[in-house]
Amino acid sequence: MINVNDTPEKAKRIFSKLIEDFEEQNINPTPLNYFVWYQYLKGENPKFRQEMDAIINDPFGYNDRAGKRLYEEYLIEDGEATSEFDRAFRRLVNLMIKKMNVWSDKLEQHTKELDDCATSLANPDIDSAEIKRITHTMISTAHSMNESSRAFQQEMFMSSEEVKQLRNDLLEAQAAALTDELTEVGNRKAFNNALEEKILDTIDKPQSLCLILSDIDHFKKFNDNYGHLIGDSVLRYYANIMKKLQGEHETICRYGGEEFAILLTHSSLEEAKAHAEEIRTAIEAAVLKRKNSSEPLSKITASFGIAHYHGENDSNDAFIGRADKALYQAKEAGRNCIKDELDLTENQS
Ligand code: GH3
Ligand code: MG
Ligand code: MG
Repeated sequence: MINVNDTPEKAKRIFSKLIEDFEEQNINPTPLNYFVWYQYLKGENPKFRQEMDAIINDPFGYNDRAGKRLYEEYLIEDGEATSEFDRAFRRLVNLMIKKMNVWSDKLEQHTKELDDCATSLANPDIDSAEIKRITHTMISTAHSMNESSRAFQQEMFMSSEEVKQLRNDLLEAQAAALTDELTEVGNRKAFNNALEEKILDTIDKPQSLCLILSDIDHFKKFNDNYGHLIGDSVLRYYANIMKKLQGEHETICRYGGEEFAILLTHSSLEEAKAHAEEIRTAIEAAVLKRKNSSEPLSKITASFGIAHYHGENDSNDAFIGRADKALYQAKEAGRNCIKDELDLTENQS
């Protein structure tokens, strides 16, 4: 017997989850709704996911208006990276729906043929020639059903490969959109996302969260002396030092220009300070040379400001602000040193 469950596992899972949700919740199959729902199933943006969960559990549920609002609030920024994918994904879903429809029409036609055979067989006056003819019809219908089922499975399998490819393309595009091209650490947007995510995590499950802001000292002068290209290499070099020392619970981002941010979970202020000290001494100890002539370049140092997240009563801006003030204080104290938010309190009191 033909069984829709025979379709390859993956194609079924990806395709049916989306279609099932749409049917179950009576959602209009518009491109925007496909896109919003796809992002939801992907589950990468925790705030968006939380809000969608709340909407789905709400008695009014998800509708076009909610979709449009969520799209504008959470997803429009990702539009550029995903619009190409979005178009391809929509094309694919439409194609799959068409294939499903063709298959379901064929199935209906075959079922009708078998019904007709059953009706003819129920005729008490039926002769042996007629029974033979009906039997032939039934066998050939069964063959056709088998064939179209196999063709359908094959098509669904190919679609699942396309979905996989599209998904990989999307993940690559999104990773590129969150990576700083020069240093290959996260960019400012990645920092904002990571901060939101880690703050939500600390609310769900109290844990320590620290922010280390660092800024290369007198970098303008370095650029003026050696040129922007060598300056760029130094930025890459500095990022690599941080990457080499990177721990398991650590996110490194380029905050802007020659300023970098590190978000550390599971670290006390003291531990974050010790980590900053490792980076500070590593860059201070680096012996930089011109690539071609091996001519030595002047030393590079960096200053650091560290803050500790205070929990629900804290705000993102206040948290970043304290690290920024501590960094400013490190600069004021002569650079190439580390200050944290406790130094601020002590200084202000
Ligand atoms: P301070 O010790 O107070 O931080 O001094 P500074 O000279 O580092 O600070 P300032 O903010 O005056 O200068 C930052 C410099 O960083 C100026 C800018 O040219 C340089 N910079 C920012 N982004 C890049 C970049 O992508 N490549 C290069 N080569 N330089 C950059
Ligand atoms: Mg600087
Ligand atoms: Mg700076």
